[in-house]
Amino acid sequence: MDEIVWAKEREEMVTLIRQRGVRTPAVLAALTRVPRHQFVPPEYQTYAYGDHPLPIGYGQTISQPYIVALMTEALHLQPGARVLEIGTGSGYQAAILAEMGMDVYSVEKIPELHAQAQRVLERLGYRVHLRLGDGYAGWEDYAPYDGIIVTAAPVEVPPALVAQLALNGYLVIPVGPRSSYQTLWQIRKTTEGLEYRDLGGVAFVPLVPVLGGSG
Ligand code: SAH
Repeated sequence: MDEIVWAKEREEMVTLIRQRGVRTPAVLAALTRVPRHQFVPPEYQTYAYGDHPLPIGYGQTISQPYIVALMTEALHLQPGARVLEIGTGSGYQAAILAEMGMDVYSVEKIPELHAQAQRVLERLGYRVHLRLGDGYAGWEDYAPYDGIIVTAAPVEVPPALVAQLALNGYLVIPVGPRSSYQTLWQIRKTTEGLEYRDLGGVAFVPLVPVLGGSG
């Protein structure tokens, strides 16, 4: 398929996401521009602009576009903000944030996915900081972050992520039992403590601690 066809499919995907309630122009603009088909394995490329997750190997998935949009909107970031992603996966979410002008840091625990994401992001010209390690520990060197997005589900909110969040920043994270539905939380850090907002039910792959270290 040529680029014009992909672009048309992208626009239809974004129309659907807008209808589902995501209205932030910068988020929709980024989804219109980032070539999602470049982030999925060749055999799934023709499905790249359907509103569903797709396998990316190693038992992992690229998230459903609507969920990517919803989570990105919930971060409430201004261009230039520093954002941490846990679970680089395909690199698509990181590309969306980079496309919006954010300073992106992303941690992945599977070496092959980390390397593959690095390749595709470089090829497309997105400058993001990728790290191979355990997302439970966040990425302390560059903290605090104006926003943190977690794209795999822990059973409880990892304390390191709360610690590395800037004051007034948002942490967007699915939390819940494995192999079941989780709740997507938008958590704001305020001087009075944490404010929780329930964004609905989601189904993410589990955030699995890396054995034997914090990465
Ligand atoms: N944001 C990704 C989707 C990620 S799927 C995208 O846009 O494609 C969730 C990812 O979290 C998987 O790649 C999985 O390997 C990773 N993951 C799971 N547990 C982790 C951990 N403890 N630390 C870092 N990454 C982890």
